[in-house]
Amino acid sequence: MPKYFLIGNWKSQGSTEEIHKFLSTIIRLSLPEHVRPVLCPPFVYLDLVKKRLPIGYSLGAQTCGIETKGAFTGEITASMLQDIGCGYVLIGHAERKESLEVLEQQMERAWEANLVPIFCLGEEAPSAWYSLAKKISYLSSLPASAPFYIAYEPIWAIGGKTPPSCGYLTQAFQYLKSHLKFTQGFIYGGGVRPENLKEILDLNIFNGILIGQASFQHAIWTMLLEILEIHGKVQSKTTLR
Ligand code: PEP
Repeated sequence: MPKYFLIGNWKSQGSTEEIHKFLSTIIRLSLPEHVRPVLCPPFVYLDLVKKRLPIGYSLGAQTCGIETKGAFTGEITASMLQDIGCGYVLIGHAERKESLEVLEQQMERAWEANLVPIFCLGEEAPSAWYSLAKKISYLSSLPASAPFYIAYEPIWAIGGKTPPSCGYLTQAFQYLKSHLKFTQGFIYGGGVRPENLKEILDLNIFNGILIGQASFQHAIWTMLLEILEIHGKVQSKTTLR
C-alpha cells in the first residue's frame, strides 16, 4: 500500500531555537506505519533539520532554482538540495507566483538532481477550472513514467480555516482525473487542520495532505499524527473484515 503523505510547508517561519523545540517534541511521537511525513523548512534550516530528522521522516525544499551551477547570485540549485539530504521539492506553490516557464525548468532541474517534485496546482477562485488549463496541458505532456506528485491546492482555500466542501473536493478530483493521465496520486492542501482532517480522510480520494504554516506548531502536528493513526487503524480493520 502506498504511504499517505503528511507534508509540512513551514514557509518563512522558524529560528534555530524554535526548530530545536519542534523537533525535540515530534521525535517522541509515534509515527503511524502508513504515513510518510515530509518537512519543508526554509532553505537556511534544511541542514539543521536534516541532522535531527526523526526516523521515517523525509526532507523537502520549498522551491529550487532554474540553473544548474554558476554565476547566479543567491540561487539554490536542485543538486545542492539533493546534496544536503532533500528527497522532495515543492514546485509552483501559489505564493511564489512563478510563470509556468519557470516551473517547467524547475521540474527538469529537480529530476536531474533525483529529487521528487511535488507540483502544486489549484484554481484561482471557486469553480474557475479554466485557470488550471495551462498547467494541465503541461502535465499532460509529461511521460507517464515521470516521477512526481501533484498537490491540488485551490488557491482560494490556502491559508483559510477550512477546505472546500467534500462535494466540491470530489468534483475537483474528478475534474483532475478526467483531464490528466496521472496515476501517482494527488495530495490535497488548503485549510486542512486537525478539526477537519477526518472529513478529508473519509473522502478517500487523496494520497496525502499538505499543510502550511500551522504544520510548524508541534501541538497541531501531534494531533494530525494522532488522527492519521486512528484513521489508519479503522481502515485496516475494515479491510480485514
Ligand atoms: C499551503 O500554503 O500550501 C497550505 C496548504 O496552507 P494552509 O494549510 O495554511 O492552507
